[in-house]
Amino acid sequence: MAAVKTDISMNFQTKMYINGEWIDADGGGTLDVINPADESTIAKVAYGGRAEADRAIEAATKAFPKWSALTAYDRAKVLKKTADLMRERADRMARTLTLEQGKPLPEAKAEVLHAADTFEWFAEEGKRAYGQIIPQSNAMKRHHAIKHPVGVVGTITPWNFPITLPSRKIAPALAVGCTVVSRPAEQTPLVLIQLFECLQEAGAPPGVANLVLSSAVPFADSLFAHAAVRKISFTGSTPVGKELIRRSADGVKRLSLELGGHAPLIVFPDADVEQVAQAAVIGKFRNNGQVCIAPSRFYVHEKIAGRFTETAVEMTRKLKIGNGLEDGVQVGPMFEERALAKTASLIDDAKNKGAKILLGGERSKRFDKGYFFEPTVIREVDGAMRIMTEEPFAPVMPLIDFSKLEDVIAAANNTPFGLAAYVFTNDLTVATRMAEGLEAGIIGINDPVPATPQCPFGGMKESGMGRELGHEGLEAYLETKYVSIGLRAF
Ligand code: NAP
Repeated sequence: MAAVKTDISMNFQTKMYINGEWIDADGGGTLDVINPADESTIAKVAYGGRAEADRAIEAATKAFPKWSALTAYDRAKVLKKTADLMRERADRMARTLTLEQGKPLPEAKAEVLHAADTFEWFAEEGKRAYGQIIPQSNAMKRHHAIKHPVGVVGTITPWNFPITLPSRKIAPALAVGCTVVSRPAEQTPLVLIQLFECLQEAGAPPGVANLVLSSAVPFADSLFAHAAVRKISFTGSTPVGKELIRRSADGVKRLSLELGGHAPLIVFPDADVEQVAQAAVIGKFRNNGQVCIAPSRFYVHEKIAGRFTETAVEMTRKLKIGNGLEDGVQVGPMFEERALAKTASLIDDAKNKGAKILLGGERSKRFDKGYFFEPTVIREVDGAMRIMTEEPFAPVMPLIDFSKLEDVIAAANNTPFGLAAYVFTNDLTVATRMAEGLEAGIIGINDPVPATPQCPFGGMKESGMGRELGHEGLEAYLETKYVSIGLRAF
């Protein structure tokens, strides 16, 4: 396979952004950013720790009174301009994203544009942070409930959607008047740095939005240590989410948690098998299955299981794997070497317990370098296998037959996760019963890509707390202040 020329002279900004200035780490520390497609180092970014996080929080605390006192209309101008700049720079930002994360360029561009849409949507929705006038039961009183920004917000996000996920936090927080201290995952800082360049150029005042590049725990320590940080918004794994719940008790810090998932995709016999198989393959192998809402358990009605399996295997076989910068590539590398090891161990476990590998099942032998795994389809899967109980986050499609609606609802719900679920049917009654019976915060009925800025996104059970996007995603950064006014006799 010919090596793809990756332009490493992109002249990345590599510093962190604190109080309106681009700075190096105090001790001069740096961290290599690795291209998962060829294992080369594409940049060295500043890499600090607790001291930089403390300074960012102090800057955000100082900036809060002025920023929160602006009108929502003035704050919206900054957010809208940020969205415009992201759209103007979408090609460059997408290329950066592909270089550091690996996903194919068209997916990277769609991600950047989705993040821009999120900024624009919250710019507008911030103008609708309405309170309430509540009818009084005492003629000499008036009751109002008004909305107030929570304060300084800390955000922590993973590498799989390095610009979309922070945008779902930063945009609503800034829209309502909060100030923000953000930290990207270590593997993918560059595209988020470019978003902060847009925020700066769009006129976000110093201290309003800060970006810290550091290891995770000192950053979290700093958020928990400062009373001014009133909220932490986290996207990541369920175990780290649970740790944050425990740690937030002392300071009673508000939390929004977007955690792991294990989404069922359920196909009823009246569905169009070819169309659904295509949607299933695209949904499964997008970003190598490293998507929190990716379908990861495929329940197919026994009447169509044979045809569905054949079609899905054929479509998967045809997927073009390679460097995400190359034309036509549909599946890039996984994000790290350890992701390959975890995927292989899930497959070995399933194989040892009786699963049949129909396609793939191992690290790709087609590449000398890079973290490529062959897209994999397996059958004869049962509930005792780790792939059915642990969040796989991997390019593996496990196929399971079912016959009865009640049984498939029970099987789909038999997990601590409850993030997303997908149903394919043309029967309105079946669709309604499934939507009502499935325990998931996001349900796509004949829709494999339900996420959009104006609709609520988040999980039930151990998949999270709270919602992002939609009006609920704005409420997540607001307190309700009840004001009761006693009148004098007139
Ligand atoms: P992770 O280990 O929980 O890491 C997520 C982020 O938290 C990273 O920035 C990580 O930093 C940081 N972190 C790790 N340990 C921490 C700690 N003790 N205190 C504070 N921060 C800490 O998750 P991951 O495996 O990288 O990411 C994939 C997970 O995210 C999956 O479970 C996926 O389902 C979930 N996810 C959920 C959604 C959703 O919307 N529900 C969306 C996307 C992903 P470093 O990695 O830089 O060290």
